[in-house]
Amino acid sequence: MAGVDRMLDTSPKVSDEVRKTTCYMCACRCGINVHMKDGKVAYIEGNRDHPVNKGVLCAKGSSGIMQVNAPSRLRAPLKRKGPRGSGEFEEISWDEALELATSWLEPIRKSAPEKLAFFTGRDQSQSFTSFWAQNFGTPNYAAHGGFCSVNMATAGIYTMGGAFWEFGQPDWDRTKLFMIFGVAEDHDSNPIKMGLGKLKSRGGKVIGVNPIRSGYNAIADEWVGITPGTDGLFISALIHLLLKAGKIDLQYLARFTNAPCLLNETKGSPEEGLLLRNDDGKPLVKDRHSGTLKTFDEAGVKPDLAASVEIDGVTHRTVFQHLAERFLSDEYSPEAVSEKCGIKPGRIKAIAAELARVAFEEAFELDQPWTDFRGERHEKMTGRPVSFHAMRGISAHSNGFQTCRALHVLQILLGTVEVPGGFRFKPPYPKPVEAHPTPHCHSKPDCPLDGPHLGFVRSPADLALKEDGTPARIDKAFTWENPLSAHGLMHMVISNAHAGDPYKIDTLFLYMANMAWNSSMNTRGVMDMLTDKDENGDYVIPRIIYSDAYSSEMVAYADLILPDATYLERHDCISLLDRPICEAEAAADAIRWPVIEPDRDVRGFQSVLIDLGSRLGLPGFVDDSGEPLYEDYADYMVNHQRRPGIGPLAGFRGDGTKTGRGDVNPDQLKKYIENGSFFVEHVPDEAAFYKPWNNAYQDWAVGLGFYDKPQPYLFQLYSEPLRRFQLAAEGHGERQPPDHLRQQIIECLDPLPVWYPGLEESLVDHEAYPVHALTQRPMAMYHSWGSQNAWLRQIHGHNPLYVPTKIWTENGFEDGDWARVTSVHGEIIVPVAHMAGLNDNTVWTWNAIGKRKGAWALDEDAPEATKGFLLNHLIHELLPSKGDGLRWANSDPVTGQAAWFDLRVRIEKAEPPEESQPVFNAQVSPVGKGPNVVRQKVSK
Ligand code: SF4
Repeated sequence: MAGVDRMLDTSPKVSDEVRKTTCYMCACRCGINVHMKDGKVAYIEGNRDHPVNKGVLCAKGSSGIMQVNAPSRLRAPLKRKGPRGSGEFEEISWDEALELATSWLEPIRKSAPEKLAFFTGRDQSQSFTSFWAQNFGTPNYAAHGGFCSVNMATAGIYTMGGAFWEFGQPDWDRTKLFMIFGVAEDHDSNPIKMGLGKLKSRGGKVIGVNPIRSGYNAIADEWVGITPGTDGLFISALIHLLLKAGKIDLQYLARFTNAPCLLNETKGSPEEGLLLRNDDGKPLVKDRHSGTLKTFDEAGVKPDLAASVEIDGVTHRTVFQHLAERFLSDEYSPEAVSEKCGIKPGRIKAIAAELARVAFEEAFELDQPWTDFRGERHEKMTGRPVSFHAMRGISAHSNGFQTCRALHVLQILLGTVEVPGGFRFKPPYPKPVEAHPTPHCHSKPDCPLDGPHLGFVRSPADLALKEDGTPARIDKAFTWENPLSAHGLMHMVISNAHAGDPYKIDTLFLYMANMAWNSSMNTRGVMDMLTDKDENGDYVIPRIIYSDAYSSEMVAYADLILPDATYLERHDCISLLDRPICEAEAAADAIRWPVIEPDRDVRGFQSVLIDLGSRLGLPGFVDDSGEPLYEDYADYMVNHQRRPGIGPLAGFRGDGTKTGRGDVNPDQLKKYIENGSFFVEHVPDEAAFYKPWNNAYQDWAVGLGFYDKPQPYLFQLYSEPLRRFQLAAEGHGERQPPDHLRQQIIECLDPLPVWYPGLEESLVDHEAYPVHALTQRPMAMYHSWGSQNAWLRQIHGHNPLYVPTKIWTENGFEDGDWARVTSVHGEIIVPVAHMAGLNDNTVWTWNAIGKRKGAWALDEDAPEATKGFLLNHLIHELLPSKGDGLRWANSDPVTGQAAWFDLRVRIEKAEPPEESQPVFNAQVSPVGKGPNVVRQKVSK
């Protein structure tokens, strides 16, 4: 044995240098230590000092090495040679590529900038890409949020100034009951796993509400296998029971929400349903002590939740009374909702009782004095240890906005937002609607746009409509069809551009968005639209520029490819202006930097945009003499100032000691790298909770530049902007909706949360299509990003359709069987697998595992292409016809969120085909195929 000991090196040196940067294998942005050996990545581990993951690394994060080695990486700029879709390209130089792009974009900018549609996928540089698009002058810019979780984000902002995930988190150290709705396992990955670990180690309880018991629901103490699309009804029943039992936090509602604000009740008046305000526009409340009307923020005011006042013959009653009337109605009783939700009344009652017990009987106090915005000093902070989390599962329905609103209202009624033990915002949130811009859409030749594209409308006056009332944007965002579409509607861009509705475009410019495959509804139709030609033989969408690091399905459909570098090869900025990495107790931002140099002729996309910006002479990218302002993205990250003293990075400003506001520091990136590629500034103890109403927090936020003056505000149980749209639909005001949309606006833009069935649900014959069909993203993949990763493919190489016991038995399925799955739109034939932990009436599969043959440098007989499949083939961006001569969008009528999860299907046993159906012909890979074996020796 002694001889063996001498031969074995049990602890080989894996690296000769460690470079600290930020992971990008999903959007959680954990800190990573990249171990380098002989100039190559040898190994990736979690950074223990990092605020997001504290050393924890998931399967995706540790597989980053295979992302930079992936055979599917694009190698050089490509110009299309064959017809669109053929995958035939020639490699060109960057100069040729950028000159070609400039020659296409320059004439558009000079004549009609709206003819450029620039949309980005899951990139993390939206404050930069939107800045570019704004200076180009096109109104047609957005990222992918419209088909992801805009309902969650928008409902959160309009209700309480922020939502879940990047906006906030549970108080993991103190919460005792955690209720989670419809969360995909790839989102909020390490942070939520670490939080769940903390919660469980303290004996806390997790209730998972999801038709599918996988991932976080699999470790929940209680699983509620709800029927898809009925979460809003279930939440409304919980509100009904809590109101009935008086288990709501009246003090919290009176102090911090618009529950005591007064609504005009004059039927038919243009003021009906609007808040009573003073001459300065401030909402008024009735003071319980004096019995007089006072502004909501006046010192000493004690708002009366039960007030009813009459002024000049007009009655005003509080929001609280209207809310109570809505939710105490029998239509929200557990008995009334039980069948639709698939949850027994007794179970709904037990969950409501558990929420009430933990919120009120396990309430506690922290010895932490603080001062509220009315100047009142509080010696303690009251904690209510109940918290919630939700994501796309409740969001991606056409009733998702109102469902998300209902969930936010539920947690507010329990008084458990921004209190110890509850849900806490992460700086720079919370921010009220008023702190956000309104959308801007006025473009002029050779000019920047008149302001930021995306924003939060306050009334019909803010809609993105032209003078003649037609949509100003190609995706028809901010129109009467979906007025609050704060993230745009990326899923409508290609079909609208193809239809020339509302107008034709010239160039479609996409970044990291696999629109020819898993990111589109009606995938085959989208491929046809991308290749369709007009009567002159020209492509209907004349030019397509695409940037990606990998040879995804979308690549074959572009005319010009600008190959991106991988996340270990480029600079990135995870900015407070954008989607930062903050924690509830700290503001934080981060960078990525090239820990390795690319071995191919590729460039970071953001640097390419800077180059294009200066070639086009865009304001913000060139100085007065036309010289480039920035060399590349790293230069921009350091030297760009959005407002004086405020730049993309908040840390190490000025002489290196300034935070938030400060002069440009040429050594800023060096400082970040020395600090592990992140920067943290802790929230003072006095400011840690009650952020919207806490003077100490407001002052701290102003100091860091989140806003320029304190702006305390009330949570909006009642959303007045929605009421303004209803008033228009009732005929009030100058800007009027088309008649066919009036009823939809009145029903769906209710200022109090409301439940209505999903739009497809109401149109489709339930007997012909009796089953709900869903997708989830797996924990070990992030969208389609893992498909080219040799390690992650071993975890999810193909995806069966999971079938619940009831449907499995009814159809006599056995292991190895296949099923035909049919929707109103299409049909697929796919392998099935039995799953017991599943709603009786629901089937599901993993999203984006199925691949088109030839894409991603995979073999044509790879399991992803032969047994994998997409549910997207069954979903259309338009609803089935109602018989009214119109085709309505398959989107939430409030925000335009793509309603992926409204899908209904029927399922039957099928003869096993050789491969999952439909099969598309193989794409020609511009990067060839991967080798069978990849070897890298990292230790001697
Ligand atoms: S959770 Fe996401 S960011 Fe964190 S290590 Fe995993 S893949 Fe990377």
